[in-house]
Amino acid sequence: MKKADPAVEDLKEKALAAIARRRGDIIRFAEDVYRTPELGFKEERTAARTAAFLADLGLEVRTGLALTGVKAVADGQAPWSGSRRTGPKKERGEEPPGETAAPPRVAVLGELDAVVCPGHPAADPVTGAAHACGHHAQLAVMAGAAVGLTEPDVLRGLSGSVVFMAVPAEEYVELEYRFRLREEGKVEFLGGKPELIRLGEFDDVDMAILVHSGSRPGPKMSPGGTSNGFVGKFVRYIGREAHAGASPWAGVNALNAALVALSAVNALRETFSEEDSVRVHPIVTKGGDLVNIIPADVRLETYVRARTIQAVTETSRKVDRAFKAGALALGTTVEIRDAPGFLPMLPDPELSRIYRRNLERLVGAENVSDGGHMAGSTDMGDLSHVMPALHPYGAGVEGRPHCADYRVVDPDLAYIRPAEAVALTVIDLLADGAREADRVRRAARPPMTRAEYIEFARSLFRRTVYPEPEAAGAAGSGNPKEDDDRW
Ligand SMILES: [Zn+2]
Ligand SMILES: [Zn+2]
Repeated sequence: MKKADPAVEDLKEKALAAIARRRGDIIRFAEDVYRTPELGFKEERTAARTAAFLADLGLEVRTGLALTGVKAVADGQAPWSGSRRTGPKKERGEEPPGETAAPPRVAVLGELDAVVCPGHPAADPVTGAAHACGHHAQLAVMAGAAVGLTEPDVLRGLSGSVVFMAVPAEEYVELEYRFRLREEGKVEFLGGKPELIRLGEFDDVDMAILVHSGSRPGPKMSPGGTSNGFVGKFVRYIGREAHAGASPWAGVNALNAALVALSAVNALRETFSEEDSVRVHPIVTKGGDLVNIIPADVRLETYVRARTIQAVTETSRKVDRAFKAGALALGTTVEIRDAPGFLPMLPDPELSRIYRRNLERLVGAENVSDGGHMAGSTDMGDLSHVMPALHPYGAGVEGRPHCADYRVVDPDLAYIRPAEAVALTVIDLLADGAREADRVRRAARPPMTRAEYIEFARSLFRRTVYPEPEAAGAAGSGNPKEDDDRW
């Protein structure tokens, strides 16, 4: 690490001063977003509010990306130190050989969506949506970083550009609704970042940082670590209705089939190895139609999560076996629709080091913890497979994420300090001719090109029907070919 450069230090002081001046506005923005929680791909008001905040900083804002995403680019005004060497991206065939690489572009992201948590004190009374995952804090961090980085004196010292993006639908929920969006051609992927990668909205981004709100009480922040990946499954048991009192024997009970399957899933748990960090957590989204009718249409959603893509794939096969077991036992049909969830998070070590150094400066090393492994998932994992990416955590919260008691109790630790840490990190990357950002992108070895990623994600869409209709002798049950991508 080189010594602090006085010119870089001056830019940092200016960014911090700008954030301090607008502290009240940043907190107000967070609280406004908190009061109007919206679910993924429906974040209209949140997106409008975020776009207005960025426009107010003098940025040209694009909206409606992957339905609700927001994006604005701030160009640094200092010359780019340039590069004539061949970097890893060229070897991967993403840039024509012999050309100078473009100036580095760093994305600062926030996520627009809430979760469903009807018992939360700030829940929307109609939809039950609540910011129980703290994404309002993420948006405030992005907005706060934008305040610091768009300060004219700061932009004059930066090269390359900063891309601010508010991304839809990080929470992978309401699968039926999202399948419908897919069928209607409104999205292809069910999560915001995969969809934005597909749309090319990350083509002008070399590396990305998204600070998630704190995941545990206390003042400690972290540069973030690894996290699980997963596939999503939407499962439907088709039985036969019958009068539940008069002639239950004439029916085929889809709920009982689902219960056998859930028992089978639970019986599999002892086969999950600890190091794989497997999580399978199905819910029943429809258990029948009327209490006096034998259920003939029962629906479940689940994730199959694990630390590696391989462990996700292996566990997914086992779970499918369990779902088929329920159908076999009761004589129903089961339809299993797989969709790509998120990939495991692979934090970039260089970005992590720079961010950590800035965090330590702001809150002291005693208040910075290591990232470790998180068994939850984020679609920052998908980005981390195609570019250097970082998913740090803020602080200043109480309660349990996704639960009614989760809330921000310290706006400075939740919004302001992380915004400062992001601004300082971007300055480290883009000051001094953006040499550091160029070094980060040269050193990075993301496992996939963007085209490979899209192809891989597409390959995870899968529809399985069991038993196959010919075998079951069932007539007219649709179009049930394994590996069929149309649903
Ligand atoms: Zn969440
Ligand atoms: Zn979250």
